[in-house]
Amino acid sequence: LTYDDITQSNPEGRGKVKWAIRIMDGLKREKFRIFFQKVVPLTAPAGADKGRPLVRIETLVRLWDSQKSRVIFPDEFIPSAERYNLIGEIDRWMVASVLQYFSAHVDLLDAVDKISINLSAVSIRDPQLVNFITKILQETGVPPNKVSFEITETEAIINMGSAKQFIDELHRVGVSFALDDFGSGFCSFNYLRELPFDALKIDGVFIKDIDKNTTHLELVKSIIDVGKQLDKVIVAEFVENQAIAEILISLGVGWGQGYFFHKPAPIEELQQGVALLLAS
Ligand code: C2E
Ligand code: CA
Ligand code: CA
Ligand code: CA
Repeated sequence: LTYDDITQSNPEGRGKVKWAIRIMDGLKREKFRIFFQKVVPLTAPAGADKGRPLVRIETLVRLWDSQKSRVIFPDEFIPSAERYNLIGEIDRWMVASVLQYFSAHVDLLDAVDKISINLSAVSIRDPQLVNFITKILQETGVPPNKVSFEITETEAIINMGSAKQFIDELHRVGVSFALDDFGSGFCSFNYLRELPFDALKIDGVFIKDIDKNTTHLELVKSIIDVGKQLDKVIVAEFVENQAIAEILISLGVGWGQGYFFHKPAPIEELQQGVALLLAS
């Protein structure tokens, strides 16, 4: 894709393609960065390797703004990336870069239970993505059972059939899938029924005040009930304080993620060693 391809296909004029251009520039000049956040077991059973602390991580993309020397958060550029068909490139960059990072740091790969990577519902429409992911898994040697893809429930999942095929094909390879931001949309239960997700991630908006908001607490309880009925791994994000963590433990939620446990940080911080990953 070039600047001209994008501006020509955009009838609204050049002003609105600012982000598309910054994204293309970011891809060309390697300005994307990997951040990570720990996901900790709340009630999840210990791993096969007993006695070892269990930890998962979610990877999160950032765009480096060299002019202002700051990172740009994905909420700022992902909507434009989805609109201008650049999200597929970003997601591929993340898959390749994250798996390459862990294949170069085998001690970290050994220590971590699972690595989550976010995929846009727009990206998974690409019929070549399964082959791309399979190839990167082979090249890097990262065990597929250490990899989970998070897909946000959104109306962008326009074709349930092809989404299901995408998940089925990668399930055969051994990776798992989580339905992200569960409960935020209109069709949450429909996605859960139609698509073979392994885990559901309750939308953080409902979690971050369950210690104060009884409506959200009741909602979260019913989501957990459904998740358990359907045998899904349950993850809660936006765990911001101890009271929330304790409620989630009492409700039997498997995994928790949020500022209370760990704030997202550049992946390079892990170079300090496995101890950092396992510290609580
Ligand atoms: P998400 O997948 O739901 O990720 C969780 C977001 O919540 C992250 O924001 C994380 O930094 C933030 N967060 C974590 N703990 C807390 C907490 O305790 N409280 C609050 N208020 N927020 C917390 P981030 O990194 O800005 O990402 C925003 C969204 O952008 C993600 O939401 C995800 O949908 C998307 N995204 C991130 N990386 C990628 C990617 O590589 N590809 C795609 N397609 N989307 C991505
Ligand atoms: Ca996510
Ligand atoms: Ca989420
Ligand atoms: Ca989100």
